[in-house]
Amino acid sequence: MRIDKFLHQMNIGTRSQITQLIKKGVVTLNTHRVISGKTQVTPGQDLVKLGEREVAYQVHYYYLLNKPLGVISASTDRHQKTVMDLFNKSDYRSDLFPVGRLDKDTEGLVLITNDGDLAHKLLSPAHHVKKTYEATVTGKLSADTIEEFAKGITLKDGTQLQGAALQILNYNKLEDTTEVTIEIQEGKYHQIRRMFGAIGQRVVHLQRIKMGSLAIDVGLLPGNYRELSQAEVDDLM
Ligand code: URA
Repeated sequence: MRIDKFLHQMNIGTRSQITQLIKKGVVTLNTHRVISGKTQVTPGQDLVKLGEREVAYQVHYYYLLNKPLGVISASTDRHQKTVMDLFNKSDYRSDLFPVGRLDKDTEGLVLITNDGDLAHKLLSPAHHVKKTYEATVTGKLSADTIEEFAKGITLKDGTQLQGAALQILNYNKLEDTTEVTIEIQEGKYHQIRRMFGAIGQRVVHLQRIKMGSLAIDVGLLPGNYRELSQAEVDDLM
């Protein structure tokens, strides 16, 4: 591969910025100064440096984002702010995308990656990746609802769902709302909202807190993101 292409793929800069860096003589390949962008490099084998800094070869990138309310789970959009608009310039890559969707008015954990195979695996119904949400819903829920959800409820349009684990955390008498956690394996459109709709309740707040082995960090504020550790990536595979 050409070294200018390699540096571009490793997000070092635009093509013209990379040409300038090579002209300035700050790029080295196995200790030799690179003078042409056409110089061939074998990613993962050759040692490429920018000054003293090694440019490590990385193919896939994985980030955990705490999606804030009002932002859509898409890579690009002409009119609305997307999860990718929350990325710093230095981390942004055009091949990154969110794995699965959260509604605009849902917050919480979104995995962002450029690893299509992993995304496919996590979204495939065959893999049954569990997603856990914290929700505030209208009304007072009872043990009957827990049982109904566990058995698998039928949505208003007749869709029969698999069982879901509902936990009732707290009833707020003043607001007449109940805080719950709910764990589902499917990923149907507006699923949680439609599940509560089916029992005559409305979701007033929804946050995803877990997806498979990944859990949202307590200190990661809405709008912020962090790279996954290698152990976290391995656990997802
Ligand atoms: N279920 C919903 O209703 N909305 C989401 O964003 C995710 C799950």
